[in-house]
Amino acid sequence: MRTKIVAGNWKMNKNLEETEALLAELAAKLPDTRAEVVVAPTFVNLSTAVNHLENSIIQVAAQNMHFAEDGAFTGEISADMLLNIGVETVILGHSERRSLFGEDDELLSKKVKTALVKDMKIIFCFGEELEDRKSENHFAVVESQLKNALFGLNKADWKQIVLAYEPVWAIGTGETASPEQAQEMHAFIRKTIAAAFDAKIADEVTILYGGSVKPNNAKEIFSKPDVDGGLIGGASLKCNDFMEIVKAI
Ligand code: PEP
Repeated sequence: MRTKIVAGNWKMNKNLEETEALLAELAAKLPDTRAEVVVAPTFVNLSTAVNHLENSIIQVAAQNMHFAEDGAFTGEISADMLLNIGVETVILGHSERRSLFGEDDELLSKKVKTALVKDMKIIFCFGEELEDRKSENHFAVVESQLKNALFGLNKADWKQIVLAYEPVWAIGTGETASPEQAQEMHAFIRKTIAAAFDAKIADEVTILYGGSVKPNNAKEIFSKPDVDGGLIGGASLKCNDFMEIVKAI
C-alpha cells in the first residue's frame, strides 16, 4: 500500500502572525485521515511551524534548499540548517524554482544528492509546459526531467523520494489536468521508473498530482489508481479548503 500524502506549498505567503493562525487552525481541524499531511511555510517561519506542530501529525517541509554543505552562498539555506530546526522534508524542483530562478536538471540533481546524503525526504516536482503538451511532447519532457535528476540514484534511495507531477499550465491557473490526463501521466511515470529501476520501486513510489487542486475536484483526481495525493498551492492557504482536500483522500 503506497503512502498517501497531501502537502501544502505556501510559497511566499503568510507573515508570522498569519502563519501561527493557520497552523493553529489546521492542527485543531485536522480530520482523521490515512494521508500524511505536510505544510511548507516560508523559510523564516519554519521553526515556528515545527514548534507549533510538535503535538500534531502534520509535518513541516521546506520549499527549497541549497546543495552545498555550507559556505559563501548569500541568501541560501543548507540541509543541515533545516535538519537543525527539525525540518526533514524538502520540496525540490518546483516549476517556479525552475522557471523564475533558473534551476535546471543538473542543479536539481545536486540538490537531490545532498538531500539523500542528509537522509531527508524529498518531494521532487516536475512537469511539462503548455507548449510541450500542445506539441504532444509531454511524455518525453517528463521522462527527461526524471532521467536527468533521478536516474542516477541507487535503488535504496527511492524510499526517500516522493514525486509530484505538476503540469506547469495547471499551476495557479485554475486550469486542472483532467483526472484522466493525471492518471495517464502517473501511469507513464511508473512505467518509466519500472524500466529504469524495477517494478517494485515503480509500484511503491508515491506520486502526487499538483495543479489547481481544489475542494471541488480533489476527490475525482485522487480516485485515480496511480494518483497518491496532491501538492496544493493556492488552496493550502485556507484551512477549510485544505482540510476538504485532505478529506478527499
Ligand atoms: C503548486 O504551486 O505546487 C500548485 C500546485 O499550485 P496551485 O495548487 O495553486 O495550482
